[in-house]
Amino acid sequence: MKVLVTVKRVIDYNVKVRVKADHSGVDLSNVKMALNPFCEIAVEEAVRLKEAGTATEVVVVSIGPAAVQEQIRAVLALGADRGIHIETEADPEPLSVAKLLAKVVAAERPGLVILGKQAIDADNNQTGQMLAALTGMGQGTFASAVKVEGDELLVTREVDGGLQTLGLRLPAIVTTDLRLNEPRYATLPNIMKAKKKPLEVRAPAALGVELRAYSQVLKVEPPADRRGGIKVASVEELVDKLKNEAKVI
Ligand code: AMP
Repeated sequence: MKVLVTVKRVIDYNVKVRVKADHSGVDLSNVKMALNPFCEIAVEEAVRLKEAGTATEVVVVSIGPAAVQEQIRAVLALGADRGIHIETEADPEPLSVAKLLAKVVAAERPGLVILGKQAIDADNNQTGQMLAALTGMGQGTFASAVKVEGDELLVTREVDGGLQTLGLRLPAIVTTDLRLNEPRYATLPNIMKAKKKPLEVRAPAALGVELRAYSQVLKVEPPADRRGGIKVASVEELVDKLKNEAKVI
């Protein structure tokens, strides 16, 4: 079974993001970029399926500018076999990403596609679901456990009040939740080997997909600054402040 895993390059989650002065978006200049954490989990799951002998090949795909090849190489160092870079300077919306991925799915015919449940830049949480709709494949979103049994995929999902297990007929789509696994680090020899693994570059137009804007970001604002705390001298003062200043009781 071939596994297709999709990864997005995003601002490193340790970086404190700065909003641009004109409020049009987030400032990306001189900012450390990294693999989206949910995509790291997707990669780990794909590599584990290969190590278990369930998957025969792991193909990684990323859409974005030339710089995303850094993340593709990182995934190749983690154990993927080959990469596909769909090159665009734009940051396409989930529907465009899903349309591009649907073309890759049609060409590659994977038995399983694993995506992150969301990219931590815009928190869209849409691409996997849209890809399922476009390809007609079944989907198990927010997976906390995945098991292949014959031509069926068992996906455990953490839902309100418990765990739900879905049975999906393969080929299927999975999006990863935090508790699915703990991603590994790449070793130096594997980083060196990854440089020689195949990486194919495609243009969206060559896949027959026109990147469209389906929505427009009107404004991006940073969260309000936290006000400093104060010390109160007595319970009476605390109750008074909660009642008359904070007005929460
Ligand atoms: P989103 O719907 O934007 O929150 O993204 C959910 C998941 O879709 C991500 O974790 C990735 O696995 C995949 N994805 C989104 N954008 C891209 C992209 N530009 N290139 C590759 N995969 C992507």
